[in-house]
Amino acid sequence: MDRGSRIAIVGAGAGGLAAALHLQERGYRHVTVMEREPDVGGLCDAIQIGGKPYELGAALLSWEYKNVFQFLRRYDMETSPVAPFYLLDRAGGKVLPLTWLMEGQDKLALAADVTRYLFQLMRYHSEVGGPGFRDIEDTDLCQPFEAWLDAHGFTALKNQLVIPITCYGYGRLSEIPAAHALKYLNFGNFSTSLYISGVEALGGQLSWPRKIVQGMHSLMANIAGEVTDLRVGCTIEQIERDRPGPHPIRIRSRTGTDAPVEEDFDALIVTSKQDPETMAGLQMPLDPSEAALFAPVQARNFFTLVCDAQGLGYGLYCAIVENGAFSLPSGGVPIFMGRLWEGSPVLNVYAEAEAGADETVVKPRMLAALEQMNVTVGKVHTIRRWKYFPHAPAEALADGFFQKFEAAQGRHATYYAGSGACFECVEDSIEYSVALVQRFF
Ligand SMILES: Cc1cc2nc3c(=O)[nH]c(=O)nc-3n(C[C@H](O)[C@H](O)[C@H](O)COP(=O)(O)OP(=O)(O)OC[C@H]3O[C@@H](n4cnc5c(N)ncnc54)[C@H](O)[C@@H]3O)c2cc1C
Repeated sequence: MDRGSRIAIVGAGAGGLAAALHLQERGYRHVTVMEREPDVGGLCDAIQIGGKPYELGAALLSWEYKNVFQFLRRYDMETSPVAPFYLLDRAGGKVLPLTWLMEGQDKLALAADVTRYLFQLMRYHSEVGGPGFRDIEDTDLCQPFEAWLDAHGFTALKNQLVIPITCYGYGRLSEIPAAHALKYLNFGNFSTSLYISGVEALGGQLSWPRKIVQGMHSLMANIAGEVTDLRVGCTIEQIERDRPGPHPIRIRSRTGTDAPVEEDFDALIVTSKQDPETMAGLQMPLDPSEAALFAPVQARNFFTLVCDAQGLGYGLYCAIVENGAFSLPSGGVPIFMGRLWEGSPVLNVYAEAEAGADETVVKPRMLAALEQMNVTVGKVHTIRRWKYFPHAPAEALADGFFQKFEAAQGRHATYYAGSGACFECVEDSIEYSVALVQRFF
């Protein structure tokens, strides 16, 4: 494509910002990023309390976050280890070591499962490794992860995987498609997970995962600072495609209280979520194949509450025990909590709720559950609702979702990126955007 082409990017999250910067670095002179919210970052957001960033969204980095670490070096940003992990009994708030999950378990069977899982990662690397997904419709990855684990006899490993998957908001093992689970629990993330359990069992200090000392949002703000035409608080009023003449795309948008402007573009990159509701917000008529493609995409209804609280020390707490037995919460009862900074009064609390439940419904449920855990809550700084982990269910994957997704790239001069194209992780979203730019621009 001609370096003078005009390219519009929807969304200034990790995916949109990475795409913009990469286009600029390839010599494109007219790249415009349009962000609906008043600030950049999307799911990488934080609030500042007492001079420290408290992550609302993305927080943890594994050693395989190559693109993220490249950006961190570019901006001279530091990382530090995160707090130690524990389990928490929701009835009474007893803190348990991670090794509780392995009690009574045959360690040899667990070791065998780990080895076999690594073998499966190698086996499926060409389908789920690298940016996006390739050729998965005929594989056994198009079934819920739990069914896949059962089919492959991973009984010993199952409960261990609940922490990186369910506690981090990606749903139950019976809900997340196996393709997404294997993409996410790649060698880097899977080994980090094992390393956490290993270090806790041996009583050492964790070096991984790490957090960004200045916060994930500062990283996004640094990238955004290099984007030459970035518009925040930008309402897209209409996107027309397939227009006759030299520029096939016309976007009418309004930034802040400015009058609407109409501009022509040669290509459009959509990095906002691709669930039907967010797509409708683009005011962009879809062709029938696009409408059918995105119809099954669903996102999880996930919440972050940040409060002052007493009762839990410096640590990350997986609340997957109740009355001494393994049990997963639901309906807005916290599944994960973290006192992210040593000596801080602030606690981050994470929960998922049923579709449609908003902050006003979920906040009292989260607070009541914290009381049950003997956590005394003071000031609530904020609660944030997320449209999280957009993905097509396993049946849609079996029906060729990703083949159709990739076939749609470039049609109507439109390209799709962001976490819906790959997985809901900062690294995956950036990696996909960089690859998309290299492939088509
Ligand atoms: C609680 C939580 C914890 C997480 N923890 C981690 C973690 O530890 N490690 C990790 O790697 N990842 C984590 N993630 C995931 C990570 O934050 C996301 O995967 C990543 O930030 C997604 O980036 P994105 O650009 O693809 O999408 P988004 O961040 O969703 O960006 C899309 C952007 O598009 C904008 N937009 C939407 N509609 C429009 C419109 N009509 N017009 C203009 N703009 C629009 C949105 O406002 C948004 O800014 C976490 C997320 C959450 C919520």
